Amino acid sequence: MIATAKPTAEKNAYDVALENFDLAADALEVEENVRAMIKYPERILCVSVPVRMDTGKIVRFEGYRVQHSTQRGPAKGGIRYHPNVTLDEVKALATWMTWKCAVVNIPYGGGKGGITCNPKAMSMGELERMTRRYASAILPIIGPEKDIPAPDVYTTPQIMAWIMDTYSMMKGYPVTGVVTGKPISLGGSLGRNEATARGCFYTTRGSMEHLKIPMKGARVVVQGFGNAGSIAATLFHEAGAKVIACSDTRGCIFNARGLDMPAVVAFKERTGTVAGFPGADKITPEELLAMECEVLIPAALENAITEVNAPAVRAKIISEAANGPVTPEADRILDTKGVFLIPDILCNAGGVTVSYFEWVQDENHLFWDENDVNAKLEKIMVRSFNDVLKIHLDRKVNMRLAANMLGVGRVAEACRIRGLYP
Ligand code: NAD
Repeated sequence: MIATAKPTAEKNAYDVALENFDLAADALEVEENVRAMIKYPERILCVSVPVRMDTGKIVRFEGYRVQHSTQRGPAKGGIRYHPNVTLDEVKALATWMTWKCAVVNIPYGGGKGGITCNPKAMSMGELERMTRRYASAILPIIGPEKDIPAPDVYTTPQIMAWIMDTYSMMKGYPVTGVVTGKPISLGGSLGRNEATARGCFYTTRGSMEHLKIPMKGARVVVQGFGNAGSIAATLFHEAGAKVIACSDTRGCIFNARGLDMPAVVAFKERTGTVAGFPGADKITPEELLAMECEVLIPAALENAITEVNAPAVRAKIISEAANGPVTPEADRILDTKGVFLIPDILCNAGGVTVSYFEWVQDENHLFWDENDVNAKLEKIMVRSFNDVLKIHLDRKVNMRLAANMLGVGRVAEACRIRGLYP
């Protein structure tokens, strides 16, 4: 029997990251010596993570930590727990972190970590043992001056607390600055939980002003209802926009009059999903992405919009709350359709920006109030959006290339000034 593969336009995320780097480096005419210094990961660590499961059986998981760049400061980036985590995905995510930190001009390089696992099928005890074992395995290369992990998909403040504790036990004293996204009671920052969504909101608001689209009544569609997606949906709802559809892995819901966001959030908290929310119709994931709207927010994973479904997109703005949700082929299709895209390394940079604030507060042992955090975040996001928009308008390039040019250009400049190449 011949197995017929399902047609897919999914791309290897690392190939996408390299392709986007080349486009930016070409546009900036970055010299070969500098490209050789900044394009590829500086350090890659693959680790075995044996975990005693609740049954008593030992299961071995595979974990990674990639430091793509330390040109502008310590590596910085989240840790992902997901069954589809691969080394290439982690390399891609680490690479994007480098350009992202440079776009918002915070003094970090880029890093990322992950474990190939299904955290939804694990108990709290299993998750804790896996996290602590992984933290011990990557311990030699992390630290407040070296590499600072944070949460990403399916990792939480509790998981960050276990990493901080494991690291501190090895050092013999508390080191809160080794991870960000921690619980507030353990040196976390006020506003960190909402920061990615806030950054997405500020950059989308800037795009709407640029395109003269009023916020009031604007139709917003959100794919993925986790940290980034659910809070972004709430912020748009509070600002007077109409969130007409949202989704998670278990289903998609739609209401043309606008979903009652606080009720959807409460429903998700109670049931674990948005699917089945009363007062909304069920739609398919394909219908959700093809919905006519002012703002479409992919806030789940990579490869959400590919050359297969991009032709059907009817949004005016795409705000990439997720990392890598749109493939380069889809980019080209969306460009020709005139969709205004806010690229991930700008749109979701609010998270790492407040992670940076958290690290600064931890290192100084002095904590800021939430208004302070939000005001500083807004200032950085508005400035970064305007920087990228200026390159987009001056150089007549799309917003993705404009953001990559800003990020790659800053890292290239740091590399030249450090003079690390012969
Ligand atoms: P999360 O684990 O809190 O939520 C992920 C959500 O996506 C879940 O609701 C899940 O059900 C949903 N999902 C997964 N696959 C889906 C699919 N095929 N269709 C619909 N929904 C799907 O994760 P998060 O922290 O919100 O991260 C989401 C994205 O945002 C990731 O790409 C992440 O890298 C990016 N991001 C997050 C942060 C942060 O601070 N949390 C910062 C920057 C970027």
